[in-house]
Amino acid sequence: MANIVAIVGRPNVGKSTLFNRLIEERVAITDNQPGVTRDRHYGNAFWLKKHFTLIDTGGYVVGSDDTFEEAIRSQVELAIEEATVILFVVDAKDGLTELDEEFADVLRRSKKPVFIVANKAETFERANLTASEFYGMGLNSEVYPISAIDGSGTGELLDAFCEHLSDEKEEANEEGVPRIAILGRPNAGKSSFLNALLGKDRSIVTDIAGTTRDAIDTRYKMFGKDFILTDTAGIRKKAKVNEDLEFYSVLRSIKALDKSDVCIILLDATKGLESQDISIIAQAHNAKKGIVLMVNKWDALEKDSKTADTMKKEILERIAPMNYMPVIFASALNKQRIFQVIEAAMEVYENKTTQIPTSKINDVLLPIIERTPPPSIKGKTVKIKYIVQLPTPSPTFIFFCNLPQYVKESYQRFLQNQIREHFGFEGVVITTFFRKK
Ligand code: GDP
Ligand code: GDP
Repeated sequence: MANIVAIVGRPNVGKSTLFNRLIEERVAITDNQPGVTRDRHYGNAFWLKKHFTLIDTGGYVVGSDDTFEEAIRSQVELAIEEATVILFVVDAKDGLTELDEEFADVLRRSKKPVFIVANKAETFERANLTASEFYGMGLNSEVYPISAIDGSGTGELLDAFCEHLSDEKEEANEEGVPRIAILGRPNAGKSSFLNALLGKDRSIVTDIAGTTRDAIDTRYKMFGKDFILTDTAGIRKKAKVNEDLEFYSVLRSIKALDKSDVCIILLDATKGLESQDISIIAQAHNAKKGIVLMVNKWDALEKDSKTADTMKKEILERIAPMNYMPVIFASALNKQRIFQVIEAAMEVYENKTTQIPTSKINDVLLPIIERTPPPSIKGKTVKIKYIVQLPTPSPTFIFFCNLPQYVKESYQRFLQNQIREHFGFEGVVITTFFRKK
């Protein structure tokens, strides 16, 4: 189960400050295109063996046309429905406000664990002065005084809510039937793609982003292969505010990703690669899922013989170093190359589960390492003795050596590229570890 931790609370209490403090980006998201850079409101975090996705729900209400109360209400309702635990942030400097009470009214009905986070409690007085006020909201929660700015109290808070999260480990797919998730931002063409594959209207497709649909899992047979498709286009029927659509599609992606082995990520060719697409790719990459990029709506683009190559190159450059996956230009509308997309996904699944015999890895990599050894640091020379691939659900290699602490990120990247070059693994992330021997 995916662990989802939602941060809720009225504006200015410090939600985004807390979010930034807790988040750990394993892949830096860069986006140099003017105009598309926007704050990210979800990301991965890690504490004592627990991995979770943190969502700053506040980011999704800003700019809404709806009245503030409505926007907040639907924000909190979504959080209650979808999150594993809820962090309800209040301001220890301001004390309890009417708006906090409104949040509390909604949260009281939640069966999910709620944690009251009294932020801006830099001083002992402030922490104690306000605590009793916040207990008065009648939520079944301790009050956790913290300072998102200086980090005090966040350890205790993490300890407390992480107890409610499941230990996530990379799970092997035991059914042996690959699970394929179809991801992409709203309107990329996920439902159209699914319909094109199924050859009938399994779900309703319209021009309106976020038409009422539910997630559909379909067991499917094609090319003599058996697999399960998960459509994540489902949009909550009650979704009221525009911002909900993105919030909800983010939640859906996280959940679908969690269950899948390989994901097909749809990009809209008419829009190009946007930061939201990069976020989805990063989510899949961090979760160590196989990835196929499908550039959809290829029919709608003015193009010449070079367009595909140029676009592919641009996309791969912008998502580096997560640029190891197949890119297929397709059209759900015309059913152009849609079967190729599925074939690619099946190949990526095969790649993900490939085990290279130890002798072969060593025969290939040791001579390369001898020719290009890790650069020595402060006169220390790293000697890699042998390499094994672990029997994990995604390719993971251990390099046994004398001084693992002296191996730099850039050299790891070099080895990962060498593994890719010699053994394939298209579409899957390669993990390398260095251990003392
Ligand atoms: P949000 O609207 O809930 O996301 O709130 P922000 O994270 O944007 O913070 C609102 C304001 O409170 C900013 O000026 C922050 O610098 C400030 N702030 C956030 N956390 C703390 C804290 O722990 N202590 C103090 N003193 N100020 C804080
Ligand atoms: P979803 O929100 O990702 O499920 O996207 P939909 O499948 O609902 O498609 C959104 C819009 O894009 C609809 O108007 C579709 O008709 C259109 N669309 C989807 N695929 C294609 C395609 O391959 N070519 C063109 N031209 N339009 C497409």
